[in-house]
Amino acid sequence: MENKKDVKSMLPQELEQVVQELGQPRFRAGQIFKWLQSGVTDFEKMSNLPKGFRQNLGNNFYIADVILKKRLESTLDDTVKYLYMLHDGQYVESVLMHYKHGYTVCVSTQVGCRMGCSFCASGLDGLARNLTASEILSQVMAAERDKGVRVSNVVLMGMGEPLDNFDNTVRFLDLVSHPDGMNIGLRHISLSTSGVVPGIYKLMELRKPITLSVSLHAPNDQIRSRMMRVNRKWNVETLLKACRDYIAADGRRISFEYAVVEGVNDSDACARELAARLKGMLCHVNLIPANPVAENGYRRPNAARVARFAELLNREGVNTTVRRTLGADINASCGQLRRQQAREGEA
Ligand code: SAH
Ligand code: SF4
Repeated sequence: MENKKDVKSMLPQELEQVVQELGQPRFRAGQIFKWLQSGVTDFEKMSNLPKGFRQNLGNNFYIADVILKKRLESTLDDTVKYLYMLHDGQYVESVLMHYKHGYTVCVSTQVGCRMGCSFCASGLDGLARNLTASEILSQVMAAERDKGVRVSNVVLMGMGEPLDNFDNTVRFLDLVSHPDGMNIGLRHISLSTSGVVPGIYKLMELRKPITLSVSLHAPNDQIRSRMMRVNRKWNVETLLKACRDYIAADGRRISFEYAVVEGVNDSDACARELAARLKGMLCHVNLIPANPVAENGYRRPNAARVARFAELLNREGVNTTVRRTLGADINASCGQLRRQQAREGEA
């Protein structure tokens, strides 16, 4: 892969430049784009390109893919969890979920994460590297290939902080929504951020009709800074201001994620404080009963506590639902498979 360029991350207009530099007519760009987006990983299979040109491409470019290493299928529902190896031996995870409205893939945007949230398995070892746009895209393709289904929705909620890998994430959005590619509409894509405020503003400027999800997890700085290091840089007030600005520019509601952790952020007082802060905002709160991670000792409250928390918010007019747990038997919380793989590798 040394010195070769990542052709699968290129958009049609960039490919046009490439084919012209290689002495080919412009329409070849569209042909190559379609092959790449249909999942072809070998230039030799691009049968409508001249033979010499295929070789020329192979000398200058590589086609990214993910290699399936582990596959866990839930027996409770249709959820499948995947562990993939990348070309440099790194590992990432994705999850395929089956909802009434279709299949959703949850993709990773980084190997590891440098945000270091205390409840999350993905950040325990820090960031190894960013994923390329083609590596994010390949996770969606691989899930379709594995299950033989058409994926209708994508959530950027796997390993990593998408706004900490901004350019590759935006490029992925452009690729996956392209009409000549997978053609998954931006309205069917959600991006989750831990609250990287400058990234929220940058995204706002791009006016992409995706759904923005913000991992809030606490009603105030005292609790949030303990759970999320990022809050020490951009606190709750700064983050909520960015959210209000985003809603004003974008016109669509934001979704707030709130991982409910026993004894940390699940009290009635927390619910009331949260309601007061979010009241009147065009938003929706998604309560996620916390997934226990062995390394941190955080526990999930019982269902009655979570229901009560939701009720307090709804009573104040803050639209709240509890996320249904999918794949409970395969421990679908992201970051855990990769750590397990790393431990097995050491053994
Ligand atoms: N880095 C981004 C997106 C990936 S994490 C972000 O933090 O938003 C996707 C969601 O899973 C986030 O809301 C995150 O806070 C949540 N999450 C991480 N670990 C969790 C755990 N152990 N239990 C419940 N939710 C968790
Ligand atoms: Fe990174 Fe998100 Fe995990 Fe925080 S919750 S460590 S931002 S992946």
